[in-house]
Amino acid sequence: MSIEENYLDILKQIPKDVTLLAVSKTRSVEEILEAYNAGAREFGENKVQELSEKFDELPKDIKWHLIGHLQRNKVKYLVDKVHLIHSLDSIKLLEEIEKQFSAKNKIANVLIQINIGKEATKTGVYIENLRDLINACEQCTSVKVRGLMATIPIGTEESCRQYFNEMKKVYEKLSTETFKNIAMEVLSIGMTGDYKIAIEEGSTLIRLGEGIFGKRNYNK
Ligand SMILES: *Cc1c(COP(=O)(O)O)cnc(C)c1O
Repeated sequence: MSIEENYLDILKQIPKDVTLLAVSKTRSVEEILEAYNAGAREFGENKVQELSEKFDELPKDIKWHLIGHLQRNKVKYLVDKVHLIHSLDSIKLLEEIEKQFSAKNKIANVLIQINIGKEATKTGVYIENLRDLINACEQCTSVKVRGLMATIPIGTEESCRQYFNEMKKVYEKLSTETFKNIAMEVLSIGMTGDYKIAIEEGSTLIRLGEGIFGKRNYNK
């Protein structure tokens, strides 16, 4: 199937209130435009530089999401370009986001990324450190937390379901509390291989790359 057909096919299968984010890392401007022409307006990139270049080349009504690990020295390039940062995972990064966005009088919309499987190879805050990060977010003037994001360990359907369910519980618990600068509006869980399970467990935003664009080729 074409990119356009894939996009429309997935859109048909998911509930209307779930956002389908097209993960366009490594994809060309032409490939992205195919998804755009099918109606996609939200795209996710892993790297600041790639996001920035594509921002310049593609239509301005696209909402760009940064879904990969964010280095502090790259934050300044995101102001005015990023719609939502999915990867807030430390107080130090938060301080840099606050600094760069407030300097330009802009608001940064972010998700807190949680390392739900405590994988050493992955970024994201551990649950036991979440409160400290939340407290720091409450002190900000230019950062709004819109929800949570996670990538889960590779495993069986059952283990995926378990991790997604844990994320949903954290999300719901935080929803019942009142914090300054923090609202639970987005639960970003689910990728090509597991998005159906993620939606069943409460995802509000799924991040799909290969399911829309086909197999990724990192050597291109
Ligand atoms: C690449 C990537 C995705 C998309 O993965 P697919 O398996 O291609 O759907 C989703 N989330 C993050 C954080 C990614 O890096």
